[in-house]
Amino acid sequence: MPGQPRMKTLLLTSIVPALVFMAGCDRAAAQTQATSTPRATDDGGGTAAVLRARIAPPHDETVAAYRQSGAVNASAHPLTDREWALVERAITDLPPLHRDVLERRLARLSFIDAPSSAGTALTRSSEGPDGGPLFDITIRADVLDKSLSQFLTDKESMLFADDGSGYSVRFSAGRAPALTYLLLHEATHVVDRTFGVSAEMRPFKALWLDYRDLAAPYATGPMGVTTYRRGQPIPLAESPELYKALGASPFVSLYATASAGEDLAELAAWSHLSRLSVPLTVEVRDAKGRVAVTVEPLRSPAVQARFAVADAVLARASAKSSQTP
Ligand SMILES: [Zn+2]
Repeated sequence: MPGQPRMKTLLLTSIVPALVFMAGCDRAAAQTQATSTPRATDDGGGTAAVLRARIAPPHDETVAAYRQSGAVNASAHPLTDREWALVERAITDLPPLHRDVLERRLARLSFIDAPSSAGTALTRSSEGPDGGPLFDITIRADVLDKSLSQFLTDKESMLFADDGSGYSVRFSAGRAPALTYLLLHEATHVVDRTFGVSAEMRPFKALWLDYRDLAAPYATGPMGVTTYRRGQPIPLAESPELYKALGASPFVSLYATASAGEDLAELAAWSHLSRLSVPLTVEVRDAKGRVAVTVEPLRSPAVQARFAVADAVLARASAKSSQTP
């Protein structure tokens, strides 16, 4: 909430009611820039060792948010050594800027058993002792073993109501694990809110009237009324038109239309995943299994142009912050 910089902030990926509840709160955390601190360790393994010491049970507020999103029995998930190896790999895969900011600003990394929750990951912010923001990232434990293809297919299914038309929507992201994407996405929220990128610099003003409101033509087209935009699920028969619209747009995903902050998180995450050679294909098939629409967002010149802008904006914000006394 603007004007209340001490207010704690919760941002629950995929939980649309939580995103609505969050409206206007992101700015508070973004108003305080991180102070200069020593550089991150030079390799991902060093960052993983630093962050392993910050693994802790989720904050009570976080558990409450998951319970409100449908997981009444949500509880802390103790990480096994095998699961830590998966997390370590995802941390190692982060870009240097993300690792640097997490080392300086991540207070707690938590995992939660809440498979019936509508949301997957949550980033909570609070004011640190130096006046800058600190963050907790909490990730649902059942995604630790999930493939990114399955995760995205399951997540996007929430946009549709089964109308008996036989249409289906499937994502393919090679062999990438969901965790790599999730940590990239959540870590970008931490970078964004540490430097105030999407709330203050507003790098994509042509697409966003403000933090939450899409500009024309996207606000009124099929992409403007999905569940991610606080709309109701649409009949599966309308899925071809929806993904045709996505393919013709500069958005890397439909989830990127949820807010300017989600747009930036999706751009930064997929820009890096594409550098890691992770592919992304969305296929809509009809009742007979014939492909009706294929979208490859990472190959779109409009999306690639925005990858470059997002990466440059984050790098500039980081450089500007490091010059601040
Ligand atoms: Zn997000």
